[in-house]
Amino acid sequence: MNLRISALDYVQGVKNGNVSAEDFVASTLERISDIDERLHAFLSVNDDAVDQARSIDKKVKSGDKVGACFGMPISIKDNICIKNSKTTCASKMLENFIAPYDATVITKLRNQDAVFVGKVNLDEFAMGLSTEFSAFGPSKNPWNTEYVPGGSSGGSAVSVSAFECIASLGSDTGGSVRNPASFCSTVGYKPTYGLISRYGLISYANSIEQIGPLTRTVKDAAFMLNIIAGLDENDNTTVDSKNTDYLSGIDSGIEGKRIGIIKEMIGEGIDSRVLSATKDAISKLESLGAICEEVSLDMVKYSVAAYYTITATEAGSNLARYDNIRYGYDFTVEGYEFNSYISKARRNFGPEVKRRMMIGGFVPSAGHAGKYFLKALKVKSKLTKEVNEAFKRFDLLISPTVPILPFRIGEKIDDPISLFLVDINTVTANLTGKPAISVPFAIANGLPIGIQLMADSMNDKLLLQAAFALESTITLPEVPT
Ligand code: GLN
Repeated sequence: MNLRISALDYVQGVKNGNVSAEDFVASTLERISDIDERLHAFLSVNDDAVDQARSIDKKVKSGDKVGACFGMPISIKDNICIKNSKTTCASKMLENFIAPYDATVITKLRNQDAVFVGKVNLDEFAMGLSTEFSAFGPSKNPWNTEYVPGGSSGGSAVSVSAFECIASLGSDTGGSVRNPASFCSTVGYKPTYGLISRYGLISYANSIEQIGPLTRTVKDAAFMLNIIAGLDENDNTTVDSKNTDYLSGIDSGIEGKRIGIIKEMIGEGIDSRVLSATKDAISKLESLGAICEEVSLDMVKYSVAAYYTITATEAGSNLARYDNIRYGYDFTVEGYEFNSYISKARRNFGPEVKRRMMIGGFVPSAGHAGKYFLKALKVKSKLTKEVNEAFKRFDLLISPTVPILPFRIGEKIDDPISLFLVDINTVTANLTGKPAISVPFAIANGLPIGIQLMADSMNDKLLLQAAFALESTITLPEVPT
């Protein structure tokens, strides 16, 4: 069974009767059991997946109406709720938490006959960018298992890249879909803020995060968006997608489109191999008729500081519910006062989550808010103004997704600031609410490089068109795993 096919080819295959959903899902589970011990993408596997796929084959055979996914195997980041399944956020605190309801994205995919093959690894509560902060151990990059796969949706990227599923859902607060997509050579898409419901996503920083698909191809990302985008009465930050078909016209090209090259993202600190891939991407886009020109976004230099200040503040309040009373693990209350019990119980959070809780308690506090939190909000609004100005001159913005190549597991774990700085190119889209995508573009020293395109709010369709055009200019090798 060839597992190395796109979502669209899979769907076509099952529709035509050339592929059996049951065989495909069974082979996918076999592959997971063969290779995942080495890669550690999965935290749990769905034992009912093959039965579910079989029932879809039956529907196809009997001519019943079948949903658009036709039993396609999808993995789900373990901070998105699937009813009656464990949703751990890769945290000891939620190790035994069983979600009581489906996230809206899950309901929508289920209604289209997707099969969820399992829940995949992440940095604890999606805080990090290497998956090394998972309480259950890091995922490994399938291109070279000594290297990080990126994060926080590392399990999602590994599972797509290593053919352990066809597509995955991750969440992107400051790059967590795009960063691992770039590090593992998959497509990673963060939509306009509000385009995809966050209902059932365990919150880290609500005001800027979004669920997004990781896929093998740009068309597959558009296919997923068609299913999961749109208004949701359970999430009042959602916007109307107006039933946009993101696949139709995706091959319209980018002739005459103006693309701004973000100056601050191709300067200091960039790896020379990433820079040369970016230049190559720009010249390929030019050869397709795009007009590329440098643009300066001065506020980008403050974006990482603002991002971590704002997200830690929101995380601080979101994590307050983990008091080991409503959620938690087995730890007796005997012998503790109320407050000492809670603080003792929280010892089980990992170092990154603790760091965010401490920062999140401090930066908005009386006497300090003016210096930190309020300043960060000012940076956010100035950056948004700058980016909005840029979109008056340009249809799209381009940069590398990540300024460096994947790094070795353990290399940066003790240096949080250097880890934070890896987010420099991705956080702007989150702070401004704009859609952004990472397109796999090059391999250097056996490790992947992704190129990021960004568009103005609600221009997701144009963004996918441009990404498709860029993707069409290259052929990349397949993952060696
Ligand atoms: N690395 C960033 C952080 O730790 C982004 C995480 C994310 O997008 N969830 O906050």
